[in-house]
Amino acid sequence: MGYASYEIYRNGEKIQAGYSVETVCEEASCEEQIDRGLAHLCGETPGGDEHGCGGYFCGNHLYMSLTEGIGDLCGRCVTPVPA
Ligand SMILES: [Zn+2]
Ligand SMILES: [Zn+2]
Repeated sequence: MGYASYEIYRNGEKIQAGYSVETVCEEASCEEQIDRGLAHLCGETPGGDEHGCGGYFCGNHLYMSLTEGIGDLCGRCVTPVPA
């Protein structure tokens, strides 16, 4: 049992995830090399949950959410801070 590599379903599509799986940041035009570990996940649950889309993003495109317990979120999922 480990989290290095495992399969998940995201939007009905089976993908390989885990920190040993290399990928690039899913932000359009960003080519930062990352892995599909939880550290790069948008939200808390691989495959997506009610807060995050389940995408994988680099440190520049993942934001600390203001709400505890929902994980870091990408620019599309993070709750906009009221001006
Ligand atoms: Zn997201
Ligand atoms: Zn990025």
